[in-house]
Amino acid sequence: MGLHLIVFGGPGAGKGTQAIRLARARKIPHISTGDIFRQHIEQGTALGRQIQADITAGHLAQDEVACAIVAQRLTEGDCRAGYILDGFPRSVAQAQGFDEILKHRGEELDLVINLQVDDEEIVARLSSRRVCHSCGAIFNLRFNPVLDDDHCEAAENGAHDLMHRPDDEEETIRERLRIYYKTSEPVLAYYAQSGKLRHVAGMGSTPDDVFHKIESVIDAFEAACLS
Ligand code: ADP
Repeated sequence: MGLHLIVFGGPGAGKGTQAIRLARARKIPHISTGDIFRQHIEQGTALGRQIQADITAGHLAQDEVACAIVAQRLTEGDCRAGYILDGFPRSVAQAQGFDEILKHRGEELDLVINLQVDDEEIVARLSSRRVCHSCGAIFNLRFNPVLDDDHCEAAENGAHDLMHRPDDEEETIRERLRIYYKTSEPVLAYYAQSGKLRHVAGMGSTPDDVFHKIESVIDAFEAACLS
């Protein structure tokens, strides 16, 4: 059966950081639509050229494009034992599209984990976020004081460059927040009825603490399934 999870939250809520750790712990793939889109942009594919302007401005890619990318990714063999979606669904239309995808695959969504963080914390976090250009590791200059601003400190990747994502400029972050409240937050109401939605505080504690809270939520879900 496997675990089928959505990690949800505003920009900078910590979805990527937590989803990467969960994927490692549970040995299931982490699927980030933002990462997939950035790869297309970097590789200069037709899709990359189509979405580049929108993403750099902090706007969303089209719902059909996001759904098609996810449907395609889920056909890969590593998704058979479950997966963690990060950054999808990001609109009610995408949530409906995902229901169709699940139906077609004969799968059930297990949990939607909503990471709650307030706006000023988001702006502060994202302005100091750095992402490793090569391995995708996420750092924050506020919490990694030894980091010299432009090198990945993951031991095995010592020589990799860190980048400040173009959509992490303050103006663009505010635009992403505006779009989050208008388009993405309604996804919570969409899932509220299902009994699958869980809220986890994404601030006021370390990434480790947040991770443990998420693990307890999943453990409780699995225990309830067994009983
Ligand atoms: P964050 O969670 O930090 O906002 P992501 O890496 O998830 O960033 O996404 C970066 C950008 O990629 C988004 O601002 C948006 O432009 C685009 N994007 C990612 N996922 C989707 C999606 N499901 N639908 C539409 N656009 C998306």
